[in-house]
Amino acid sequence: MKRAIFPGSFDPITLGHYDIIKRSIGLFDEVIVAIGINAEKKYMFSLDERQRFIEEAFKNEPKVKVVSYEGLTVDFCLKNNVQFILRGLRNPADFEFEKAIAHTNRDLAPIETVFLLTSADTSYISSSIVRDVIRNNGDYTKLVPSSVIVK
Ligand code: ADP
Repeated sequence: MKRAIFPGSFDPITLGHYDIIKRSIGLFDEVIVAIGINAEKKYMFSLDERQRFIEEAFKNEPKVKVVSYEGLTVDFCLKNNVQFILRGLRNPADFEFEKAIAHTNRDLAPIETVFLLTSADTSYISSSIVRDVIRNNGDYTKLVPSSVIVK
């Protein structure tokens, strides 16, 4: 069983994440979208909300699971029989950042990181820009799946 983890904060999930997850479904038997819990980070959406937004967006995709986790991604992989870490690449800054993480992870465990290049029409989207738009009462609905609802 080919299992991949797509780790991130997903604060909130965007159409960029959605695109990467959708396209990965054909590559793996199971795709685990894993919300990393970082006690030092301040989030706009609660863990519960972030999880529900993703679950709702993929409710018709039985191959997609949503979990949260603490600690190293490679430890999660080793414990849960996950062979691949999935990441999205938008630009050279993402590449440099992701390269360092992927090399570190390979030092820690024999797990491959698989990169998918962002789609042209979602390449500019980031959770931090979405949060800025939300904070300033802009129309965020074109940037996120319809499951993301701001109360
Ligand atoms: P993190 O806290 O790890 O930055 P994110 O939720 O922002 O978590 O991102 C998780 C993954 O999704 C990362 O691999 C990131 O590069 C990728 N990603 C984010 N936005 C996009 C996008 N618009 N297109 C493709 N990949 C993206």
